Amino acid sequence: MRRKKHKNTRRTLRFYRIQFGHRPPYKVLLDGNFAHALEAMKKGESKDLIERLLGDTVKCYTTHCVQRELKKLGKEYAGARQLLKRYPLHKCGHDEEHCSAADCLAAQLGDKNEEHFFVATQDKVLHRRCMSVPGGAVLFASINGVHLETPSALQKQRVKLEEQRNLLPSQAELHSVALQVDGAAQQQPTTERPSFRRKKAKGPNPLSLLPKKRKEPAAAVREAGSGKQQQQQQPAQAAQPKLQQQQQPAKQPQQPQQQQAHKDGEQQQGVKRKRQRRRGKASGGDGGGGGDGGGSD
Ligand SMILES: [Zn+2]
Repeated sequence: MRRKKHKNTRRTLRFYRIQFGHRPPYKVLLDGNFAHALEAMKKGESKDLIERLLGDTVKCYTTHCVQRELKKLGKEYAGARQLLKRYPLHKCGHDEEHCSAADCLAAQLGDKNEEHFFVATQDKVLHRRCMSVPGGAVLFASINGVHLETPSALQKQRVKLEEQRNLLPSQAELHSVALQVDGAAQQQPTTERPSFRRKKAKGPNPLSLLPKKRKEPAAAVREAGSGKQQQQQQPAQAAQPKLQQQQQPAKQPQQPQQQQAHKDGEQQQGVKRKRQRRRGKASGGDGGGGGDGGGSD
């Protein structure tokens, strides 16, 4: 039971610390009826009880309005009045005018409880008023000791609204060009839902369409090997025309020289034939023993 209470208290304190900025030393405003309840329980010093509950240092305050109300209540609340005299007075601003203790303490919280007060009271009406204020935290006493009230539904709702408001862009951000463009894009009616489809394959795998390599016998492999050699030689032969083509422009200027040499060779052969004929005639004329010459004579 005590462990559960301690867990709830830690959770509530974390809520007030994160959402509303309550920090130790926690400031506690003590009401007269709360002091009277602690005096009746006689469980110890009120400040010690509160510090033990919150797990950190505490500064306890009371107001002039609370003390004035206790004084009016008579001797029955004298013990509570003596208890509150130990703590410093918080300047409530009601010194001259008449103000009830509940109204005085509620006025210290204001609309937002900017000073992060904890109000320790047994007054249920004041209790509700404090819990309706964002950041208003309430301590109360029971037979089991001092307790911290869990945050109200209104306070939780305020926190949610504040978080949603923080997620929205600020005025400065709305004026930026980038967000204006995005806003215009968002304002356009979009009937189609964003689709996240996987890319389907448009056809079979192109690698699977390649012709399969057949396993050939050893002879075929040799032929294939010779064929490969031929193929390897072919590129060399095929390369020759290129060389010839490259050499042709160089040979073209040499053609007149070759024709000239060819003509010279023909002239030389003609001269040789003429000489052979002359020799043949000479031999036939002189001896008359020649084959052709003898026959003709
Ligand atoms: Zn006051």
